[in-house]
Amino acid sequence: MTTVAIFDLDDTLVDTTARLVPEALRRTAEALGVPVGRLNAGGKTVDEVTAPCGPLDPAQLEAAARAWYDPVVPELAPAPGARELLGRLRGRVRLVLLTRGDPQRQSNKIDRAGLRDLFDEIVIRSSEEPGSKADDLQRILSGTDPKRSVVIGDDPNDELRYGAALGCLTIDVRTTPLCTIEEVLTQAGLLE
Ligand SMILES: [Mg+2]
Repeated sequence: MTTVAIFDLDDTLVDTTARLVPEALRRTAEALGVPVGRLNAGGKTVDEVTAPCGPLDPAQLEAAARAWYDPVVPELAPAPGARELLGRLRGRVRLVLLTRGDPQRQSNKIDRAGLRDLFDEIVIRSSEEPGSKADDLQRILSGTDPKRSVVIGDDPNDELRYGAALGCLTIDVRTTPLCTIEEVLTQAGLLE
């Protein structure tokens, strides 16, 4: 049975925190007229990022959301070894990219990092939609054996937790470099 490998995007295949977050924070602070230090730099959604500013009126919230989710993304180098790894896995496993955020911004990140043609399936969940990546993982894995599936990401409270709960092998890229993931899959018997 084919192995399914599900990759997260942000801080897994692209270094979002270093490359894109500072500018997004600067834009959002400017839109609200507050110092950057007032924002929650670790937030993912606009609500999380602006939470320290207290309740915002609808116009402020709209301006902050426009700034935080600005779909314009600069040229983005994928994480070292990412394209090579995906190229080697292509055709040997079913490759799925699962990401959450503003759909247009996420889609532009995928294109700007040159990752689109390396995946069999790309799933983008809008931050505004109810539900979580758990629902997407369940759908992606339907009809497949979770034990033949691997979830590769950076967030222990998101894709890694949901993947483990479904019975998948999970690989945390904060402790396992992308260049050794092929070895991990081989050792786990998931690659021929
Ligand atoms: Mg991530």
